[in-house]
Amino acid sequence: MTSPTKPKFAMYWASSCGGCEIAVLNIGPKILDVDAAFDVVFWPVAMDAKYKDVEAMADNSILLTLFNGGIRNAENEAMAHLLRRKSQILVSFGSCAMEGCIPGLANFSSTEEIFEATFGSTSTDNPEGVRPQYQYEVPEGTLHLPMFYPQLKTLDQVVEVDYYIPGCPPESHQIAKVIDLVLEVLDGRAELPPKGAVIGAGESTVCDECPRQRNVKKITKFVRIHEIQQIDPDLCLLEQGILCNGMATRDGCGARCPQYNAPCIGCYGPAEGVVDVGARVLTAVASVIDARDPEEIEAILDGIPDPAGSFYRFGLADSLLKAGRKAW
Ligand code: SF4
Ligand code: SF4
Repeated sequence: MTSPTKPKFAMYWASSCGGCEIAVLNIGPKILDVDAAFDVVFWPVAMDAKYKDVEAMADNSILLTLFNGGIRNAENEAMAHLLRRKSQILVSFGSCAMEGCIPGLANFSSTEEIFEATFGSTSTDNPEGVRPQYQYEVPEGTLHLPMFYPQLKTLDQVVEVDYYIPGCPPESHQIAKVIDLVLEVLDGRAELPPKGAVIGAGESTVCDECPRQRNVKKITKFVRIHEIQQIDPDLCLLEQGILCNGMATRDGCGARCPQYNAPCIGCYGPAEGVVDVGARVLTAVASVIDARDPEEIEAILDGIPDPAGSFYRFGLADSLLKAGRKAW
């Protein structure tokens, strides 16, 4: 039952894996604070609510909407516009909404290539070669499917966004901090950060949070973690030849991966001031390569597995390359 006095909360899941929803549920007992402070009016993964219920709400009647997922089709975009209209504060929540994330890697492929991989590959039983149709006549009437867009867009490429919470998914302790902040704002004990701010994360890089030692050593080859017999637990992974994106990635996770001998793959998105995350990683890589001869440099770079995927795993849709928006 909705409450006429409590501020309203909504959460929506567009093109994403659902991990952001799990991360919110993973905040433990703090979820009870959310329930106590807010009237949850729309959250399809947690409650039954229809789009028409949102359409019937007054504009600006939802105080806070967390929108996760990128914009891959017309339904995603219609919901982005609808929730923008109904919400006072719209948060681009998680890597998919903020920078495209893994679904955004499909921007390397055309629509036909994506459909071929999905409906025509050997792992799909589809002898008649059926493809999705946006309109289909059945005896009961006309069925409609949302139009699939040629490129995935980030949320702020289609509507204005008030705040960003990065992460794939955002760390639960960071979500809890943001909820505390919103509760303090509601109580008049704090003020909202400036519009457009990244919240629930740091302003520096994962390298700054990482306890590993950096000796500015040069490397002569890249290796994958399973190729090393013993990873030095104290030395920077990049200096051991393991591609680590920590230098281009926003801090906030506590350098979680390098602390467990795994490289940072960049899930907190570009650090403050980084325009193109892949270009920044490339620059860092170039600075540690110990070679001057072009052929030698090329041979070292050949050791990087899937360079495009490694450099743009999370940020392709928001990069200067293959983005769903114009570069300039
Ligand atoms: S490159 Fe990776 S391992 Fe090295 S300091 Fe940065 S985060 Fe740590
Ligand atoms: S270390 Fe990197 S990949 Fe791992 S959680 Fe932190 S930002 Fe994400």
